[in-house]
Amino acid sequence: MDLGFIGLGNMGAHMARRLAEAGHRVIVYDTRQEAIGKLAALGAVAARSPAEVADAAETVMASLPTPDIVLAVATGRHGVIEGKRVRRFVDLSTTGSVMAQRICKLLAARNIVQIDSPVSGGVSGAEKGTLAVMASGPRAEIAAIEPVLSVFGKVFVVSERSGAGQTMKLVNNVLSATAMAATSEAMVMGVKAGLDPRIMLDVINAGTGRNTATEDKFARVVLPGTFNLGFTAGLMMKDVNLCLAEAKALGVPMDVIEAVARLLRLTCEELGPDTDLTSIVRPVENRAGVKVRTPAP
Ligand code: NAD
Repeated sequence: MDLGFIGLGNMGAHMARRLAEAGHRVIVYDTRQEAIGKLAALGAVAARSPAEVADAAETVMASLPTPDIVLAVATGRHGVIEGKRVRRFVDLSTTGSVMAQRICKLLAARNIVQIDSPVSGGVSGAEKGTLAVMASGPRAEIAAIEPVLSVFGKVFVVSERSGAGQTMKLVNNVLSATAMAATSEAMVMGVKAGLDPRIMLDVINAGTGRNTATEDKFARVVLPGTFNLGFTAGLMMKDVNLCLAEAKALGVPMDVIEAVARLLRLTCEELGPDTDLTSIVRPVENRAGVKVRTPAP
């Protein structure tokens, strides 16, 4: 199948590579030439704009950082909307349901179907094809591209309603952010009280406190101090803010998530938005005067 792919970053580069390896002809675009070059070296076709991608493929996918960038790439000048061949726009980014619905409407005016299909599972999930893929949009349209989406991982049809996949993704990510923030505070406290962080993780993971931060992120990137998960604190801040806005509009209180947002904001202020999400432990460590680190076993 001819497939367009726009946004070849931490997630997109792996997803586009997997499509090429699965035998698809992938037409790629990114604002970074070096990212295009790497995919072209694997057999992908380089394009010079989102419109050019959409001239070459019926299905165009995107994995872009922010809602505004997705809007511009999908519907702006030289955007996907100007493509001659495109019929389907599949947004793999996290953009929130409000933006998904806005893009859906704008594209529908040109007979282009929007499918929001955000993903979860991190860079390692994108690399291995083990992501959770949360598709929403017309059922027949999702069915038409389900074999393609399954190259990325397990496909869930969340709803026929545009934006529902985005809401699902935000719910998932605030839980993931909360696990990371709460685990950071708990681990720093234990270490300051004299506990060994590796023993702490072993106990928690055999007990009721276990979560995605204790089972994976702490052992893999915090204890060794590499902080290279591949998901930035700035992108998580965006997701948490999008969720808080959707919760407010629905009249749902989110006091716990507000606290998580405060720690994320502090992390972005002190270490910059491009710092890895797992660096959220560092402002806590700095204030406590201890580090949650052990040499590799
Ligand atoms: P990233 O910043 O690594 O990659 C984004 C890519 O988009 C970059 O290559 C950048 O050059 C490109 N880009 C920016 N503006 C562009 C434009 N106008 N036109 C074309 N390309 C442009 O981000 P990422 O971590 O790969 O995340 C992408 C999306 O997936 C985000 O919405 C993020 O929230 C979501 N997500 C990320 C992860 C993760 O673990 N990193 C997991 C799940 C979902």
